[in-house]
Amino acid sequence: MIRLPGLIDPHVHVREPGQTHKEDWDTATSAALAGGVTMILAMPNTKPPIFDSSTLDLALDAAKQKARCDYVQFVGAGPDNADILPSLASKAAGLKMYLDSTFGELRLDDMTLWMPHFQNYPKDYPLVLHSESRTMAAGILFAAIYDRPVHIAHISLKEEVLLIKTAKERGIKVTCEVCPHHLFLSEDDIPSISHGHPGRGEVRPRLATKEDVDSLWTNMDVIDCFATDHAPHTLEEKDSDNPPPGFPGLETLLPLLLTAVDRGRLTMDDLLQKAVVNTRKIFKLPEQAETWVDVDENAEYEIKAENQFTRCGWTPFEGWKVKGKVRKVVLRRQTAFEDGKIRVEQGYGQNIREQ
Ligand SMILES: [Zn+2]
Repeated sequence: MIRLPGLIDPHVHVREPGQTHKEDWDTATSAALAGGVTMILAMPNTKPPIFDSSTLDLALDAAKQKARCDYVQFVGAGPDNADILPSLASKAAGLKMYLDSTFGELRLDDMTLWMPHFQNYPKDYPLVLHSESRTMAAGILFAAIYDRPVHIAHISLKEEVLLIKTAKERGIKVTCEVCPHHLFLSEDDIPSISHGHPGRGEVRPRLATKEDVDSLWTNMDVIDCFATDHAPHTLEEKDSDNPPPGFPGLETLLPLLLTAVDRGRLTMDDLLQKAVVNTRKIFKLPEQAETWVDVDENAEYEIKAENQFTRCGWTPFEGWKVKGKVRKVVLRRQTAFEDGKIRVEQGYGQNIREQ
């Protein structure tokens, strides 16, 4: 048995408010605990999105009632809210900006709408950018111009990791995260994920080429954090004519990483730095007292959706053989998960920005 600190996942789509048929604060935080994750940072593109004081309260009220692990909520950048967001910064994980995909209240149609957010949001907290390829380059230019930290969500491409490496060498305040599905899957895996339902392979950023995947591994020192981008959709939705992009990931993160450690692809120090230490530092999160994860590093098992707590009912890693099983999770001295069962009630989780 080995004992690890509780993992922190900086990129989780909880789906509440608004889409609780996919997931809610109960099932998302249960999935987190089962995966050895004791703190999640929740994304703001819910329905409604979290983009002002009243919508932030909506998410935080639901979390307070239902969360079983600790959490923080992101706020989202829209065309009209750059003036009010700084007053919410101390209650939020950070500011999420969707620079590529544009939808609803969080659409940022042109770069003039980025400017007030880069200008106004307190520099103590990072701006988290969904920005792919050349949009990412624009986001890094903004970080340089405004001299403030940005964190690039879910990098997946060779050109992205190489540009971030160069930007870091020049002293630009940029950090980044990578998702397990971009480390362990490439576009070549889409047929085996899909089982004849192409929607199951849909995720944004898309699964990349083998060369891109290899570049993430060879530039592991450039990557600051592991993040799941846990984005649950039901199988019915994934198999429909208009499949929404996204994979669940909270319960497969640690077993996949431990398997990579076992195979010598990753060091345990890398795992701890990127799944706990760096994430805590980038998002200014407190250490969770008397919190740990006991892992049976020799237990081998097969990933099965039927054993998961996420409501979405599937995983792109179905049938994968992994080595390293979460046996017990202790959160603030309480046993929160043990031998496949959640042991804490809804509402046990704390908003860590409220302490
Ligand atoms: Zn996401």
